[in-house]
Amino acid sequence: MKCHLCNHTEFDDLMAYRAVSNDVIFQNSRLVKCKRCGLNQINRTFTQATLTDYYQNQYDRDSIYQVSPENFPKDNLFSVSRGRALAKLHQKLALPTPKTVCDLGCGYGHLLYGFSQFFPQAHYTGVEYDPNTEAILKRLNFDFKLGGIDDIDELRGKVDVLITSHVFEHVVDPNQFVDQCKNLLSPQGVFIWEMPNSDPFNLACERRHSPHICLWDIDTLRKVLENHGLTVLFLDTAGKKYSFVDSLEKGIIKTAGLFIQNMFQKETNNISLSDKDAIGFKLDLYGNNRRNLRVIARKSDK
Ligand SMILES: [Zn+2]
Repeated sequence: MKCHLCNHTEFDDLMAYRAVSNDVIFQNSRLVKCKRCGLNQINRTFTQATLTDYYQNQYDRDSIYQVSPENFPKDNLFSVSRGRALAKLHQKLALPTPKTVCDLGCGYGHLLYGFSQFFPQAHYTGVEYDPNTEAILKRLNFDFKLGGIDDIDELRGKVDVLITSHVFEHVVDPNQFVDQCKNLLSPQGVFIWEMPNSDPFNLACERRHSPHICLWDIDTLRKVLENHGLTVLFLDTAGKKYSFVDSLEKGIIKTAGLFIQNMFQKETNNISLSDKDAIGFKLDLYGNNRRNLRVIARKSDK
C-alpha cells in the first residue's frame, strides 16, 4: 500500500480502524500513520467505483442525520448552527463579502441556509449526490447541482467561498481534490473547510472511524494546503471536545446515528431560527484540541 497523500510505503501502526457493521468494505482494517508525511489513514486503497457504490448502497447517512425535509430548516439546527459559525468566522477575518458561495457536499442545505443569513446578497449553489436536495434548495432560491467535484466545471474560477464540511476525509485522492477545488476559486476566493480533528486523543475517543480514508490533524492539513500553493488564513480546532466519558457512552448507545439524534434532541430548543447569531452545540468555540478542524485558505499571490 502507498500513502494516500505522498505515495510513501512505510507506516506506523496506530490501532484497529473502527468500522460500524454496515460499513462492509471498511472491516478488518488498521489505522496507520505515514512515516514520511505523518498522515493518519486507513491501510487500504479504494477505487472511486467502490466508494461510489458504498455511498449509494451502504452508507447510513439518513439514520445519522435524522432529518425530515418537510420541517426544513428546523429539522437540523446542528447544521444550521455550523453554517452560521463558518459565516461568523469569515466575517471575523474581514474577508471580502462573497458574491458566489458553493457548498460541495451540501447535504440537504441546512449549512448553506445558516451561512446565507450572514450574506443574503450572495448567489448560492449546493452540490450533492442526493436528488432530494433540489426541492429544498429551490425554495431558498439556491442553485442545485447533482453530483460532486467532477460535475461543476461551469463554476471554475468563479467561487468566492467554497465550503466543504466533513468531505475532505472521505475523498479517495486528496491531492486531486485540492487541485480541483483550487480551480473553482475566484481570484479573491477562499476555501472554508471543516473536518474531524484526528489527533491521537480524538482517534482513541472516536467510536467510529469509517468511512474516513484520510484522518487529518492540524499539521497534515496545513501541509497539504500549503503544498498546493494555498495560503492558510485561519486554522484551528472547533466545536465540542472529546472526553473518554463520551467514548464510553457511545459504546453503550452502539450506533453513531442514535448518538447524534440524541444530541439534536437535547439542544435544539434554545436556538432561534431568526437570530443568525444564535449558534448551538458549541460550534463557535475554538482551540485546545476540539473535535473538528476548521480552516480558511486562499490561493497564494504569485
Ligand atoms: Zn505520506
